[in-house]
Amino acid sequence: MKQIGQHAIVIGASMGGLLAARALSDFYAAVTVLERDTFPVSDIPRKGVPQGRHAHGLLARGRAVIEDFFPGWTDEVVACGGARGDIAGDVTWIGHGVTIKSAPSEMVGLLASRPVLEGHVRRRLMALSNVRMIEDCVVQGLIADDSRATIKGVRAKVGNEAEQTMTADLVVDASGRGSSSPAWLENFGYARPEEEKIEIGIGYTTRIYRRHPADLGGKLAAIVAGSGPNWRSGAILYQAEDRWIVSIGGYFGDHAPDDDQMYAAYAGSLPTSDIHDIVAHAEPVSDFARYRFPANLRRRYERLPRFPAGYLVFGDALCSFNPIYGQGMTVAAQEAALLRECLDAGQADLARRFFAAAATAIDTPWDIAVGNDLRHPQVEGPRSPKVRFINWYIGKLHMAARHDAKLTTAFLEVANLEAPPTKLLHPAIVLRVIGRNLGMRGNADATPAGVRA
Ligand SMILES: Cc1cc2nc3c(=O)[nH]c(=O)nc-3n(C[C@H](O)[C@H](O)[C@H](O)COP(=O)(O)OP(=O)(O)OC[C@H]3O[C@@H](n4cnc5c(N)ncnc54)[C@H](O)[C@@H]3O)c2cc1C
Repeated sequence: MKQIGQHAIVIGASMGGLLAARALSDFYAAVTVLERDTFPVSDIPRKGVPQGRHAHGLLARGRAVIEDFFPGWTDEVVACGGARGDIAGDVTWIGHGVTIKSAPSEMVGLLASRPVLEGHVRRRLMALSNVRMIEDCVVQGLIADDSRATIKGVRAKVGNEAEQTMTADLVVDASGRGSSSPAWLENFGYARPEEEKIEIGIGYTTRIYRRHPADLGGKLAAIVAGSGPNWRSGAILYQAEDRWIVSIGGYFGDHAPDDDQMYAAYAGSLPTSDIHDIVAHAEPVSDFARYRFPANLRRRYERLPRFPAGYLVFGDALCSFNPIYGQGMTVAAQEAALLRECLDAGQADLARRFFAAAATAIDTPWDIAVGNDLRHPQVEGPRSPKVRFINWYIGKLHMAARHDAKLTTAFLEVANLEAPPTKLLHPAIVLRVIGRNLGMRGNADATPAGVRA
């Protein structure tokens, strides 16, 4: 351990907070994680993480980072019913209305329920000797030094006890998209961060079904990213040996009803029969659950001219976006890896360095998720020439990838945050996209001259 401080506090013990705490544990003598909820005795959804009832999968990049922080973690999740899945080979991807060609790849993601993924991270974190968690603990504000230049800790209330102060060298806010950091910092005279908010009015309706191994042709998941003219989205993911989780929904109130027949009819309107086949015929083993996701939201702390020392904002509290590409936990994992790198260089100027690095990491998933949302005619937001070109090009890439597994893999490497978006503009990829699209003008299934299958 390269110790740079005595005590760090993390607000929130969901995926973001747990992974931030893991990074901090290598640099602070003690790390305390404060969580408003009490932890359930088994891995079931809890109040503070309502999205935990809905389909969650962990992308390859996120799995690799968590495995690096907690060696053997993937095996532990698999031993408890999770499944490793080849992101390109075991998953059917539907975007821009078409199914892109599936083929084996080296991207290994992880499929298990959200509470199972979080529960395994939490237990591994709690096994570290310098980490402790206080549950049923609501952080109500911050404390600062007399000059208000440095955050010195938090004001918190544990259960029914009186409010108390807890001091720390560093406080990390991982309290999710409802974070109070803008208001707390404003109280100390700091400007609120600029917010980028793209309203989408998405709603997902979720149900769990009995799974049979032959379902979905043996694949482990199918994901539909809504794209015009059919803007409905959906995901069916392996949960445990005999369970599927299905989340389906749409934009601006076009949400799936919580009624057996109407839910099946909604599933039948998606551009794949995969989800409908399960919903219409498999045995449901849960009630319906609903989740509303009003807007993509990004807080630009990296643009603030002044920010106090001893404080960071992390995970969904920094940025949360349409979850259809399943990137949120992976972004939190990437931020934890970046935090570790930043801490390795000491605590000086930490906020500026961390926010700049996190902003760069967030750019790609934001552009992927929000870029697709901006194709929707009702979504309001800046459509720069770059956004319009990328959306046009990604549409063409999908058309070509129906018959070209190399294009599928390239796209999924970027969507999995394994490769930079520039990979898709490499001349070899562009030529394949052009060649396939020209070839398809004559014959949709043809392999055009100059493109090897
Ligand atoms: C419907 C849906 C589906 C998704 N699917 C995927 C997916 O497939 N893959 C993926 O990678 N991501 C997915 N995500 C995103 C993912 O859930 C989040 O990105 C991830 O949970 C990281 O969030 P977080 O820890 O920063 O915040 P949150 O998960 O919101 O957690 C915040 C925590 O802080 C606690 N808290 C809040 N205020 C206080 C306070 N004042 N004091 C103490 N504690 C407090 C809360 O109780 C909670 O535990 C999905 C999101 C949604 C909405």
